[in-house]
Amino acid sequence: MTGSEQPYRQQMMYGGAWHDARDGGVFTSACPADATPLGTAPAGGAADATAAVDAAHGAFPAWSGLSAAARAVHLRRLVDALDARRDALARLITREEGKPLAESHNELRLTIDTFFWYAEEARRSYGDWIPDPLPGRRLVTLRQPVGVCAGIIPWNVPAAMIARKAAPALAAGCTMVLKPAEQTPLTALMVAEAFCAADMPPGVFNVVTGGEPAAIGDALLADPRVRKISFTGSTEVGRLLLRGAADQVKRTSMELGGNAPVILFADCNLDAAVAAVAALKFLNAGQACISANRIYVERAILQPVAERLTAHAAALKVGNGLQDGVTMGPLIEAGAVEKVERLVADALENGAAPLTGGGRLAGGDHAGGFFFQPTVLSQVRPDMRVVNEEVFGPVASLLPFDTEAEVIAAANDVPHGLAAYVFTGSLGRGIRVSERLETGMVGLNDVRIGATEAPFGGVKQSGMGREGGREGLDEYLETKLIAIGLDG
Ligand code: NAP
Repeated sequence: MTGSEQPYRQQMMYGGAWHDARDGGVFTSACPADATPLGTAPAGGAADATAAVDAAHGAFPAWSGLSAAARAVHLRRLVDALDARRDALARLITREEGKPLAESHNELRLTIDTFFWYAEEARRSYGDWIPDPLPGRRLVTLRQPVGVCAGIIPWNVPAAMIARKAAPALAAGCTMVLKPAEQTPLTALMVAEAFCAADMPPGVFNVVTGGEPAAIGDALLADPRVRKISFTGSTEVGRLLLRGAADQVKRTSMELGGNAPVILFADCNLDAAVAAVAALKFLNAGQACISANRIYVERAILQPVAERLTAHAAALKVGNGLQDGVTMGPLIEAGAVEKVERLVADALENGAAPLTGGGRLAGGDHAGGFFFQPTVLSQVRPDMRVVNEEVFGPVASLLPFDTEAEVIAAANDVPHGLAAYVFTGSLGRGIRVSERLETGMVGLNDVRIGATEAPFGGVKQSGMGREGGREGLDEYLETKLIAIGLDG
């Protein structure tokens, strides 16, 4: 750590205080660019999760009893506290998660904006005065907070993911217990520090770190005081949590895995489209749920697309995200590199051709880190694993197509349905194809599908519920009907 960096806490935070794990255990967080240990976090378990729920449950009556306007004052103080830590947080995200510093700053902009926006949006959580079919009665609805919520998040967007859950939850009047991923606990703890610096009432927001996720998850699922589980992560773990939530019929939001298709029609603006696809594909080294996993190219433009995309990939500078000029960082851990290697090997064995990249980067500037070359594969076939599985790495797979009907069928022929992207010069076709894609989001001539103000989420096995926008607030509100007799 350089002298200018703020140190980060290595304890968990609940009830407004800092705690070790009940059993004293810790686990290490390390930098994926060079395997340097960054610090330790408490290896919490069921007892720690229950203590955090105690705090969240204790804080709920007073927090939910505040007006939305009063809660907004607290959240705006949090915005200031996060803003004051902007540089330290960005550096920590890059060191702990690996993305280039500029990407970490973008993530923080989204994080801060999300708290800012929901602080105000909750002031607009209106109910209805409903026209009543009966005389002598009036029907009124109120929006009320769900209660204590649990947020479980992955490592790939470690600060913004907290905001996507905690901002609408807290603005709505819920309290939250958050479990960050094992790979990025320190980022969550620095965000927790900002909550403390903002004098957030104790227990409103709590973080439990742990190396045994099932123990924490099971404790949260078994506790009847937890009324909602909001999860972002793999479809596999999402399924486990959905099953667990069924016992107590807890509310759930599930932001799960993706396998996004990109469709490039021959009439698209070729240079702009390929530049956008390259930016999307290699963002966070391909470790994004909305990353381009399958790139379908109309046969007439296959060659120029392949050449342009290869040039973009080859121009990337891969290295430690803190270094000037680095445009792509490492993968999160050794297992991630091995998985991408296996998927690429399967494609190559079955006839795909590497136009650039195709293997890991080791030695020199990459020594000790988990780097994979930006890779473009051509002659990819629909039955290859690289098409049917979420790669979560910097591998662009090109598949030719001939007709609109054929490519829509191929794009929809996976269990996932998070994001899709269409590039075409024809407005009619763009709308027609967007309507028929089985995904929660479509980028039409644009890959920038995320915004604080807009609903983000998937269909099919990519999950249920939405984060962002009005819909994101609804996830933390119940609608209560009050039928009022006028003669009582
Ligand atoms: P993951 O393995 O499912 O882990 C996500 C979180 O769940 C982590 O905090 C993990 O804890 C925790 N967890 C694991 N097993 C658990 C259990 N039995 N009970 C309770 N919690 C448990 O996912 P990942 O590999 O970190 O993240 C990558 C996945 O997230 C990809 O599939 C990606 O598409 C998806 N994702 C989706 C979105 C979206 O908005 N749809 C956004 C980003 C990422 P540990 O870290 O301690 O294991």
